[in-house]
Amino acid sequence: MNRGRLIVFSAPSGCGKGTMLAEILKDKNYRCSVSATTRKPRPDEKDGVNYYFISNEEFEEKIRRSEFLEYAGYCDHYYGTLLSEVDPYLKEGINVILEIEVQGAMKVKEIRPDALFVFIAPPSITELRRRLNKRGTEEQSVIEKRIEEAANEIAASIKYDYIIVNDALEDAVSDFFKVIGAEKLRSENCHELVGEILDKK
Ligand code: 5GP
Repeated sequence: MNRGRLIVFSAPSGCGKGTMLAEILKDKNYRCSVSATTRKPRPDEKDGVNYYFISNEEFEEKIRRSEFLEYAGYCDHYYGTLLSEVDPYLKEGINVILEIEVQGAMKVKEIRPDALFVFIAPPSITELRRRLNKRGTEEQSVIEKRIEEAANEIAASIKYDYIIVNDALEDAVSDFFKVIGAEKLRSENCHELVGEILDKK
């Protein structure tokens, strides 16, 4: 069985990545890793579904036990990818998506250079501010902090393999699957195919 592909999917908050992921995950060959975080759940979030919501002490204990593939501090909280959410699924041939911020993504790039790095950007910072205000889940000071983070992340997006602008959801999801399709045709992913072609000669 072919191993699944590790896909790092980053987007500043308010870029519609949740909605995009919901569409992508309709395909059963994809799974989104559930991260651990020390931030408090939002009203519609469930423990073990959106995140494992844990205390600072529990998070630091997991760091000591080397349970994370990567972790980072973001807006005063810890966020981390648990190894148990990644490797068992890749082995089963499932493509695992890590929905993580840029610092964590760059750590993954060092440890797992074969991962695919996709950045989702908003059409503009003005549109991002409008979306965050409309969502209304954060206080104004938190929104401003997230916009500042977003601008830094967008500047770092050139380190990713692909950048998809999420203006219209359908187009952004379609772009994602185009990227996956293009990746399958990369010569380095086609060794088996080349063998098959030569055998046919
Ligand atoms: P939020 O609080 O809006 O759910 O997430 C804040 C940021 O943390 C987002 O950019 C999200 O992608 C990122 N994030 C979520 N889980 C992880 C993780 O496991 N590791 C890292 N490095 N970032 C994460």
